[in-house]
Amino acid sequence: MFTAGIDVGSVATKVVLLNENGVSYYLERPTGWNPRQASHEAYQELLHRARLDEAAVTAVVATGYGRIVLSFADWTATEITCHARGARYLVPEASLVIDIGGQDSKVIRIAPNGRVLDFVMNDKCAAGTGRFLTVLATALGVEVGELGALGREAEPAAINSMCTVFAESEVVGLLAEGVPKEQIARGLHEAIARRLASMAKRLGYAPGAPIAFTGGVARNPGVRQALEKRLGVPLVAPELCQFSGALGAALLARERPPGRPATGHRG
Ligand code: ADP
Repeated sequence: MFTAGIDVGSVATKVVLLNENGVSYYLERPTGWNPRQASHEAYQELLHRARLDEAAVTAVVATGYGRIVLSFADWTATEITCHARGARYLVPEASLVIDIGGQDSKVIRIAPNGRVLDFVMNDKCAAGTGRFLTVLATALGVEVGELGALGREAEPAAINSMCTVFAESEVVGLLAEGVPKEQIARGLHEAIARRLASMAKRLGYAPGAPIAFTGGVARNPGVRQALEKRLGVPLVAPELCQFSGALGAALLARERPPGRPATGHRG
């Protein structure tokens, strides 16, 4: 039995195919300006790789900001519900999830069965999101995927503004003063960690218990390191960190027969 989950994100569309043995295929595509087309192409590519036709998939659940545009999903579920479920599957020992995506960040407290107990979300501005790092990586002349490896040992430069536009001006100013890129990169990781650590502290977390770190930004080891230092607990970024929402959607598709809509949380 196969089920599929699709997370139509602001930056990337992620698709996961699940069977009784676990995740069988997954892939991501840029969402671009047309989420409907991106999600359709990503799903067709997934089926092609798995050598399946659509009838072989018993249910498809969509999540992410673009979930409402999908015509082939059986139902939709909120990001909070799907990320909680996916993170619990990937990091079973975690009771807290920090997820940093392209245009929002969230901290979710979860029950042992993956149910959401509480959450806080920042979706009002780019501060503390992947967008912040993408814009500032460009200002530094590096790819966002290279930022994490830069300056893990360097002394962090002070980045005072969390507003992406002002932070960009600060970065340009620091470069003009000759401050090394490594120090600036470290300063950016500290800035984003400061924001997320205060959200996690607001929600509360158990000292010593590992935290699941998901979303595309969890692929950045510099942010993980900075968050671990601030929170004093280990963060576990699973290999499929960016796919946790799509995976959660595929798990929901497996648990609920078609025709019974999911309920969930805002987000
Ligand atoms: P969304 O669901 O909003 O599309 P994602 O969870 O897919 O967001 O994360 C996208 C973000 O992940 C990008 O904005 C970028 O900052 C970050 N990202 C993507 N790939 C990498 C990478 N290889 N290393 C570090 N960060 C990355």
